[in-house]
Amino acid sequence: MIRIAVQKSGRLSDKSLQLLKDCGIKFDNGGRKLSTQAKNFPMEILFLRDDDIPQYVANGVADLGILGLNEVEEKDQDVDVIKQLGFAGCRLSLAVQKDVDYPGLEWFNGKKVASSYTTIVKRFFADKGIDATTEEIGGSVEIAPGIGLAEGICDIVSTGSTLIMNGLKEVETVMYSEAVLISNPNLSIEKKEILDKLTFRIDAVQNAQKSKYILLNAPNDKIEEISALLPGMKSPTVLPLAEEGWSSLHSVIEENDFWNVIDQLKDAGAQGILVSPIEKLIA
Ligand code: ATP
Ligand code: MG
Repeated sequence: MIRIAVQKSGRLSDKSLQLLKDCGIKFDNGGRKLSTQAKNFPMEILFLRDDDIPQYVANGVADLGILGLNEVEEKDQDVDVIKQLGFAGCRLSLAVQKDVDYPGLEWFNGKKVASSYTTIVKRFFADKGIDATTEEIGGSVEIAPGIGLAEGICDIVSTGSTLIMNGLKEVETVMYSEAVLISNPNLSIEKKEILDKLTFRIDAVQNAQKSKYILLNAPNDKIEEISALLPGMKSPTVLPLAEEGWSSLHSVIEENDFWNVIDQLKDAGAQGILVSPIEKLIA
């Protein structure tokens, strides 16, 4: 049995649970439960505040956790980052009031920066040789410069509209973040086996999300040309159609590649092109 901690309620909650479901793990998360047992996988899911997850994973109360890399870096606990999960992408940036004539990072020398991520900010300034101080605040960081609490802020940015609304401008990216799977570094052999099963399934889900199943009809004399356009896993499957002289080609293709070759496929004589999602893909 392995215990995984996910965010109880917040931006990561739905996607974290969806990922487990996509991995074929069935569980009941109705009501306001603090934990739930998977029905068909040796897993217990704990619902926690994301800030607490690194500590719980480090001390072994939970074996695994799903949370933002920013929170992992901030808490600086002894945990292993196993995998990037491809959602909740954002960046942690420094911002200053929009009328500041910003010459570069040295501007921050002697200044104070308000943030909920002071460990990360301090490390960043230390790495860059900047002598700035930090003020830790829990939320509404954007108002700090306006009320004179600090000259700059460091906060999560996705589109930047919150900064603009508060009269700020982004001047430096401190780190990029996305949701990650973390693990206690000292899992038992049994738990490591369960983790391997889980990461195998996550890989299959991630591969499937990137790829599409493509079917098309082609005149037999164009099969070679069209096959060359389809950078599939292996060569495409070719099946004869009932109509003389035509075949059906089946392949797996990355979605981006598909959009790049669609015109060439049509020019080569492909017809009835059908593209459909893939649920799992084991390469
Ligand atoms: P909790 O109450 O559990 O502590 P929280 O308020 O700290 O929740 P959320 O706002 O739910 O956290 O954000 C969780 C994580 O989602 C962040 O740590 C970050 O990794 C990511 N995140 C936050 N804001 C954004 C955003 N605007 N776009 C994309 N990802 C974001
Ligand atoms: Mg939090």
